[in-house]
Amino acid sequence: MRPEILNPLFAALTDLKGVGPQLAKPLARLGLERVVDVLFHLPTGLVQRYPIDRLDQAQVGQQIIVTLTAQEYRSGRSPRAPFGVEAFDTAGDHVRLVYFGRTAGLAKKLFPLGEARQVSGRLDAYGEMRQIVHPDHVAEPDSAEAIATSEAVYPLTEGLTNARLSQLVEIALERRPELAEWIDGSLLTTRSWPAWREALTRAHASPHDAAAHDRLAYDEIFASQVALMLIREGLRKRKGRPVVGDGRLIDALRLPFGLTGAQERVGREIAADMGRETPMLRMLQGDVGSGKTLVALRAMLAAVEAGTQAALLAPTEILARQHFATLQAMLAGLPVNIAILTGRDKGRVRESTLMGLADGSIDILVGTHAIFQDAVAYRDLTLVVVDEQHRFGVAQRLMLTQKAARPPHLLVMTATPIPRTLQLANHGEMDVSRIDEMPPGRTPVDTRVVSVDRLDEVIGGLERHLATGAQAYWVCPLVAESEMSELAAAEDRAALLRERLGADRVGLVHGRMKGPDKDDVMARFQAGQIGVLVATTVIEVGVDVPAASLMIVEHADRFGLAQLHQLRGRVGRGAAKSVCLLLRSQNLSETARERLALMRETNDGFVIAEKDLELRGGGELLGLKQSGDADYGLASPEQLVRLLPVAHDDAQLFVERDGGMDGARGEAVRHCLYLFERDAAVPLLRSG
Ligand code: ADP
Ligand code: MG
Repeated sequence: MRPEILNPLFAALTDLKGVGPQLAKPLARLGLERVVDVLFHLPTGLVQRYPIDRLDQAQVGQQIIVTLTAQEYRSGRSPRAPFGVEAFDTAGDHVRLVYFGRTAGLAKKLFPLGEARQVSGRLDAYGEMRQIVHPDHVAEPDSAEAIATSEAVYPLTEGLTNARLSQLVEIALERRPELAEWIDGSLLTTRSWPAWREALTRAHASPHDAAAHDRLAYDEIFASQVALMLIREGLRKRKGRPVVGDGRLIDALRLPFGLTGAQERVGREIAADMGRETPMLRMLQGDVGSGKTLVALRAMLAAVEAGTQAALLAPTEILARQHFATLQAMLAGLPVNIAILTGRDKGRVRESTLMGLADGSIDILVGTHAIFQDAVAYRDLTLVVVDEQHRFGVAQRLMLTQKAARPPHLLVMTATPIPRTLQLANHGEMDVSRIDEMPPGRTPVDTRVVSVDRLDEVIGGLERHLATGAQAYWVCPLVAESEMSELAAAEDRAALLRERLGADRVGLVHGRMKGPDKDDVMARFQAGQIGVLVATTVIEVGVDVPAASLMIVEHADRFGLAQLHQLRGRVGRGAAKSVCLLLRSQNLSETARERLALMRETNDGFVIAEKDLELRGGGELLGLKQSGDADYGLASPEQLVRLLPVAHDDAQLFVERDGGMDGARGEAVRHCLYLFERDAAVPLLRSG
């Protein structure tokens, strides 16, 4: 339950006087629905105004405050024409105050003829004439509310003025309760950070008050660090079951190659974890093609050797089927029963799978989310492996572990290279193993950046490539705003390619296709019946087709580098030398150029991730947003990177030294958690 003291902040804005549906709309567009949202909607700019006595003291373009007297109104010929107020300063110099959009009534009310008013706004020139368009403040000369010489400017949207938003901020600030300090005292002193209430006042007064802004960003980062740590603590307190294999199945695996040193090492880390009573909570990071599947298989076999079951969860149907096929092939001849379960399996097949899971005759289950539905009961599940983890959030991760009588060991595999700093932000509750070595014999992918002007040449090259019997991927841009336009772009592209290359050589997969249709296209691509596969989303290309040695990515500049890197990893799997063509838009920013150049220069996913973070100062496409559990509204990526290690340490102190939620700081930190809605972790610790 949210502490009562915070309730005023979580009231809906529409509960406030004067906030009707008409204002609620633009507010909602900015994500402002509750008082607390406004409280944390910080200004990004500052207007400085020059108070002057006479208009001739100011220059055009300046923000001024001046006393004016209206002499005459000037209506336009049509009702749509702007309305003017002819006004004069004390020296008798003229300025026209201009109001657009049927606001004559308002203008007349603000400027009764013959009366002096204090006015602020930007002084403009209209030909020879001075004018101020929509003065931002108008006040009576001796009113208590003098026009401020500096004013914070907020991110706005149509239908919402800065003045209106500022009023809401005022209300939000008034509502902020007195809260006990949650930040460690010595940290507060060394950083010279203000207390929470003061930080809010100052942050709203100016976007340049670094200490105030940092403190608030820190609060948010700290809240999420504490939450992750509580989750971690809660999980560690549970008793799982040590799983130790005897090696008979792992030894019986017949592989045409030896393990890489990195595979050996992470294998040992995993085996050690599984041998403990505390359930494993480990993330396995490794570039595409680094051999994570084999590591996972060996862990699953250990579970089977111990007489228990393992499950492998894939994010999509296609990947689940592919994993199933791969694992089945690797397990050929071994006494291991593997099955697949996805949302598409129905009827008798599904029934028999469910039965096999319940009676323990199925050792390993591969599937999509369906494998954790209520109807699915395992006899003795001790290991859950999640592939391509970044699509699952913390909540889902927790849910996965509730399927067994005792919490199973959890291994999460990801090819998204996450910089160390962001690792903490996102997955601070997990231990990490990294495969930092590729299997031998890989030829690095040759990456080139090509302007989209040269589309014709690119298609020509593709045609020659296909003529050699090789295959290719063609990835169309991700358009975040609209799934439909994304689809349309891909369909257009497929149509063009069909025209040029022949209809039967081009396949298309996209997110809106029905499962069986998708599988059909994928199967034909895998069998080599289709030469080029046009795909809309990253997911669909998460497949292994060694004969595909060319990848073309349209609008490459729209992808995150980590995504591009993952895409590129889809080629370079066979013996042939592979090429990745990144088609770029015509007008690229300097940063965009550098980012694409980086793709050309290195094949190391971690280098790319760290550099991308540096170049863009952002982690949005590195998995932060995708994970759905680390949503930072206040902290900028730059602040995140800078303040995260500090917050991490402080959160650790809080949990380990200060007694956590039951200690002296507990109450204060609880407020912080609820303020940033990271409270899902609270009950976990208590019940731990
Ligand atoms: P990831 O899931 O990490 O992207 P995979 O597990 O799919 O990578 O492995 C990519 C390819 O490398 C597979 O064809 C796999 O059989 C092969 N492979 C895995 N480990 C090794 C190894 N030690 N030596 C050679 N090839 C390997
Ligand atoms: Mg894989």
